[in-house]
Amino acid sequence: MDQPPLDIIRVDPRATQHGSFTLHGAGVSNGIAIGYAHLVSTARLEVAHYEIEPDQIDAEIERFDTAVAQVRGELIGLHASVPASAPAEMGAFLDVHIMILNDSMLSEIPRELIRARRCNAEWALVQQMEMLIARFEEIEDLYLRERKADVRQVVERVLKAMLGTGQTPEHPTHEENVVVVAHDFSPADMILFKQHQFAGFVTDLGGVTSHTAIVARSLGLPAIVGLHHARQMIRENELLIVDGTEGVLIVNPDERVLAEYRLKQSALLIERQKLRRLRSTPAATLDGTPVELQANIELPDDVEEALEAGATGVGLFRTEFLFLNRDDLPSEDEQFEAYRLAAEAMPDRPVTIRTLDLGADKIINGADRGGPNPSLGLRAIRFCFAEPAMFLAQLRAILRASAYGKVRLLVPMLAHAHEIDQVFQYVQQARDTLEAMGIPYDHEIQIGGMVEIPAAALAAPLFIKRLDFLSIGTNDLIQYTLAIDRTDDTVAHLYDPLHPAVLQLVAGTIRAAVKAGKPVAVCGEMAGEVAHTRLLLGFGLRQFSMHPALLLPVKQQVLRATLSEAEALASRILRTDDPEKTRQLLGRLNA
Ligand code: PEP
Ligand code: MG
Repeated sequence: MDQPPLDIIRVDPRATQHGSFTLHGAGVSNGIAIGYAHLVSTARLEVAHYEIEPDQIDAEIERFDTAVAQVRGELIGLHASVPASAPAEMGAFLDVHIMILNDSMLSEIPRELIRARRCNAEWALVQQMEMLIARFEEIEDLYLRERKADVRQVVERVLKAMLGTGQTPEHPTHEENVVVVAHDFSPADMILFKQHQFAGFVTDLGGVTSHTAIVARSLGLPAIVGLHHARQMIRENELLIVDGTEGVLIVNPDERVLAEYRLKQSALLIERQKLRRLRSTPAATLDGTPVELQANIELPDDVEEALEAGATGVGLFRTEFLFLNRDDLPSEDEQFEAYRLAAEAMPDRPVTIRTLDLGADKIINGADRGGPNPSLGLRAIRFCFAEPAMFLAQLRAILRASAYGKVRLLVPMLAHAHEIDQVFQYVQQARDTLEAMGIPYDHEIQIGGMVEIPAAALAAPLFIKRLDFLSIGTNDLIQYTLAIDRTDDTVAHLYDPLHPAVLQLVAGTIRAAVKAGKPVAVCGEMAGEVAHTRLLLGFGLRQFSMHPALLLPVKQQVLRATLSEAEALASRILRTDDPEKTRQLLGRLNA
């Protein structure tokens, strides 16, 4: 895996064998990355992928065999300890696992892969697992198809058994020279990326506003999703250029193209440095109207970057990321610490903590309750109502943190007025508990609701009466208005923030909040899109919340905007039903 440092990258001689080619997908974060391809499986990033030396092959196979034998012993032991009174399925379930483990598909083929491909044992096993799972998916019989979950569980056991017995480094060296290539990543995988320093990443699947893409953006890495066959077409160690702005991936570029992109890369760097000068400039339009530019964060550590970018608060703390990549739930105390850290890091500025938005593409280990259509299922506040103990623990943690800063509470996925009432009842219950225990919290804590479902946008004039503020989640609002799954790249081309229905709902919600004299923000990806800044200003928006990396470019737009002009053009755009005309008017607005 050792590669030369980036500054001496030259075109790989193997490029002539495989040839240079270009793939197109959806760019999810700005910037250009140049690095070597590192192919990873869809399994969790925790699984190391590395090439082994020929003289390590036998030892690696032995490591694999030992782990399989250990798991076999564990399963047999478990089977023997099943009490006679236990339901019969319990023994049967362990039988299935033992059978899967003993099948040569899992216990033999990975050994061959280690030998033939010189990949480490974990990588070999996961590759084989994916092949098996793909086969299971083709089976018509539902019962048999669902057995893929058992395959996954058995593999996870073997992976666990191998943990800590590796001989070689866990991660490729020179991570900053590496572009990770995968079929797909889950939002949980992306969070693990935060511990790495890769140059960029590309995936076959994924939509631009999937949570995977959102976290990618938060890593500030050039990235492309929806490339379809990248993982199949790219070979390990091939040189890649990732243009995250245009969504273009160049494989094995020639010297001329490489030089061109190096130039673009340095121009972008200079542009970014220039923007940094705006960091402490207050955001206001040319006519002096102040605008709040706040940050979206996933973990408390992200506050640092938000401050660095000059954010005037946290407009959205996506707390569900504290719940991913683990087998247990974070305790109330652990959550309290995380929320307190964020609140204290932003003294005197609002820190808007969103209650759990689990479900859809963010699933906690062992709790996939998405139902047949996860984005329309038991997601977000619906999931919280179904898990009152978990919800109450989070509410208490948020309330406790409110004693340490300007914490606001935000509820996702509201569709019904009774859900707001129900939230208030839970908040009251959490308050009562804290009061009984003499634990301090902010008695004036503000409670806001997310407008992410068309029903909530249409009912905004009613909902706002019950709430202290609104926050428009355009990612979901667009998904639900246009009926396109935001994680599905096959319908990604239909994702259109400028669709007249979407604009009507966004503008209408802002109008309703302004009329009621209550604050309203946009915290979906639309808020960080510079092409939409003036349009939203024209609709009356004065609070934007976005990933910190987007804050300064948006501030530049705000500083150059004239409100009267923005309002006039925004209202013309609202009255337009012709997409071409909309784009023309938007062009004028941004000129
Ligand atoms: C949104 O839907 O726009 C939003 C901000 O929430 P999330 O992206 O976390 O679903
Ligand atoms: Mg949302």
